[in-house]
Amino acid sequence: MKMKAAVLYELNKPLVIEELELPEPNFGQVLVKIQATGICHKQIEEIQGHRGSDPFLPHTLGHEGAGVVEAIGPGVTKVKPGNYVALSWIKGSGLQSGTPTYMKGKQKVNAGWITTFQEFTVASENRITKISKDIKPAPAALLGCAVSTGVGAVLNHAKIEAGSTVAVFGAGGVGLNIIQGAALLSALKIIVVDPAKDKEKIAKSFGATHYINPKEGNPIAKIKELTDGKGVDYSFESVGRNETMEQAYEAANQSGLVTLIGVPPSGKKMSIDPFDVFHSGKRLTGCLGGNTYPDRDFPRYIALYKAGKLKIDELITHRYKLDRINEAIDAILAGRVGRAVIEF
Ligand SMILES: [Zn+2]
Repeated sequence: MKMKAAVLYELNKPLVIEELELPEPNFGQVLVKIQATGICHKQIEEIQGHRGSDPFLPHTLGHEGAGVVEAIGPGVTKVKPGNYVALSWIKGSGLQSGTPTYMKGKQKVNAGWITTFQEFTVASENRITKISKDIKPAPAALLGCAVSTGVGAVLNHAKIEAGSTVAVFGAGGVGLNIIQGAALLSALKIIVVDPAKDKEKIAKSFGATHYINPKEGNPIAKIKELTDGKGVDYSFESVGRNETMEQAYEAANQSGLVTLIGVPPSGKKMSIDPFDVFHSGKRLTGCLGGNTYPDRDFPRYIALYKAGKLKIDELITHRYKLDRINEAIDAILAGRVGRAVIEF
């Protein structure tokens, strides 16, 4: 069987929409018909070679999605054909299979345990979670990365206290989810730092209480001003730039918890004053994928979404078909988009 997929042949080049041959699901693998997938900055960074050279080219991409199980390989017990599922790069229960290979004629196209910029995918059982039909494919797709990474950083990792002060660097897809996670746990102040003027409105609708444009002056001075000169209890960085990571570190108070979520560029060092750690116990931590366990967290996020306590539809600002994926990527790079979703 053939299917359309977006393939990366060369770094920094547009994706190519190809017809690829779909393999049968092997041991521990699940064949899923994709209904929607989100595009996150990590894929764009992958296309740009942000983490260095790419030995897997050509390959497929995409790591958050939603769809319906078409077939299961030997050993799979978690899902059955017809089940509605969310797909995520974050591991849950189930088998970890080998990775599939898609073929374009005689050319091999590599893939990871899940890839989602394609009509069908052969994914590892532990990257798939059965979900209720209470959520449509586009918002369900965002459970796979944006929602889990941001909300999970607050609920599972930082576990902030009601009444605490929070700074969030970056109001993109993950940043908005950090904001709403902090609002969900009743943070008193949620101070957002982002240079994009047009993100202020959406950041505030997700629960931001203050919005600082770093182009208009030193954001640390403003954060201190808003916190009686102390800095925040919790600061989060979702941009993946050394400058904002250093700022997130400085923004936290002497017993504050700093959480780095944005993917740092390869080979660059950040600079901090270690005296704060030494002297007072300021903590610098990282959080990958919001410490999410999909089997536990996806149902809980869907329940919160249904109860109107978690905004997911509002994250989606642009919808595209697979054929226009390069346009979607350009729009994200131009900063015009909250979350772009590809619908099939
Ligand atoms: Zn992602």
